[in-house]
Amino acid sequence: MDPRPAAKPQYDLYLNGAWVPSATGETFETLNPATEQVISRVAAAGERDVDAAVKAARAAFDAGKWTQLSASDRGKALLRIAEGIRKNLDELAFLETIDAGKTIGETKNIEVPLAAELFEYYAGWATKITGETIPVRGNYLAYTLREPIGVCAAIVPWNFPLLMAVWKIAPALAAGNVMIVKPSEFTPLSLLKLAEIVHEAGLPPGVFQVLPGFGPSAGAALVRHPGVDKIAFTGSTATGQTVMREAAATLKRVSLELGGKSPNIVLEDADPEAAARGAIAGIFYNKGEVCAAGSRLFVPEKLHDAVMEKVVERAKKLVPGDPLDPKTRFGAIASKPQLEKVLGYIQTGKAEGAKCVTGGERAKVGDGKGYFVQPTVFDGATNQMRIAREEIFGPVLTAITYKDLDEVIALANDSPYGLAAAVFTRDVKKAHVVARRLKAGTVWVNTYNIYDPALPFGGVKQSGFGRELGSAAIDNYTELKSVCVDLNL
Ligand code: NDP
Repeated sequence: MDPRPAAKPQYDLYLNGAWVPSATGETFETLNPATEQVISRVAAAGERDVDAAVKAARAAFDAGKWTQLSASDRGKALLRIAEGIRKNLDELAFLETIDAGKTIGETKNIEVPLAAELFEYYAGWATKITGETIPVRGNYLAYTLREPIGVCAAIVPWNFPLLMAVWKIAPALAAGNVMIVKPSEFTPLSLLKLAEIVHEAGLPPGVFQVLPGFGPSAGAALVRHPGVDKIAFTGSTATGQTVMREAAATLKRVSLELGGKSPNIVLEDADPEAAARGAIAGIFYNKGEVCAAGSRLFVPEKLHDAVMEKVVERAKKLVPGDPLDPKTRFGAIASKPQLEKVLGYIQTGKAEGAKCVTGGERAKVGDGKGYFVQPTVFDGATNQMRIAREEIFGPVLTAITYKDLDEVIALANDSPYGLAAAVFTRDVKKAHVVARRLKAGTVWVNTYNIYDPALPFGGVKQSGFGRELGSAAIDNYTELKSVCVDLNL
């Protein structure tokens, strides 16, 4: 008997506490990017389903089934979800791996446990969302209330299908909102499993719903629907711009976590070994399909050879393989369009005159099926090349050599994006000076890709706005109401 968990052949929408087909009966296939085989057939939500879900969400919100539950009981419900995630760790990790091409090591040891931790962290917040009393002129008692926004919708991408959704679901529910999630058409399975877990945790119907489907239909219908109060979006800058434009018609609250071209800066005094390790972790985690990936590596002339030799050596050790094999450290690109995009950028880099020092080709794994790409490093690039300006969202590192500190700060900031950045140095003063001068939502020092439920994350410039995680996410999912009481007798 195969002890491995399995995906179901068919999934419905999770709408108003029940599993239902879409109103039109439309479905789509989700593929395993490592084998190119169909995993499951999934119901595709359309406009009528979105409307039904928004009505159910509104009814649940207005009835106060969740919002008016005591904060402590809401927190306990979130803890039950966390427990459900831990109990279903194997299945969630398996589904995320076969749907998104991630290695089972990443999903089982890092990402699914982090999803549980996020619910635990925000379970604690439920009882700590408070207003303030404000000293005002005159004989008045003035105070603020932090209230839930109402019906929230999350539109999430395929690179971290479960985590990017949980970053939004956990704080939204903790603050008393109700939530509808539209997963990416490429990776709906882990969120459909989460819906089962939430159902078992006993949340009232309509409080949490999952509508798999396509961006231009289900996603756009959520953005346009007048019954949705807030859209939380993670994805490309181009789609983020569409979301913001469409949401303007109903003045929804919008938070956008978009693309990046994050600089990873090695200073002259850095330890080349540590810098190379950071460069590799920065670009190749999850095959480079990370919004904050350190895709531009800035190397000082003096350390160029020492750092680049080690980067190449480490990149060569990351051999693409079967994502379900626990020994594999590098999985499959999540979809065919993404594979084509990444290979296209590799050609662009070569044509622009950057030197491809390792990788640069599609990789063959097993029988040759699957969307695998070799970890690729370009050296001798300039910051004006397309491979330095545009988000590739794949395992492609662009290394640029620089002369001095002012030059590298200017180059690092010369990007339409501003999501994350890192600096490698042994000089504590320089570390803080550079951190201040970089235009980015997050700066890592001597490390890369460190996330914590308590640490806010988000972008500046065209990487979006609004902060997720930490207490900042609570602000993102609440409205502040001022109350002023006349005390004159
Ligand atoms: P998108 O930004 O288009 O997709 C993100 C989410 O938005 C998906 O759920 C998608 O649904 C949905 N969506 C698409 N169009 C609309 C719309 N008009 N209204 C509402 N929702 C919509 O990313 P792609 O999958 O197309 O990837 C393209 C590129 O975007 C990647 O190559 C990468 O560079 C970048 N990207 C960046 C991410 C990040 O975290 N910064 C994440 C994902 C991609 P559906 O999947 O059904 O289209």
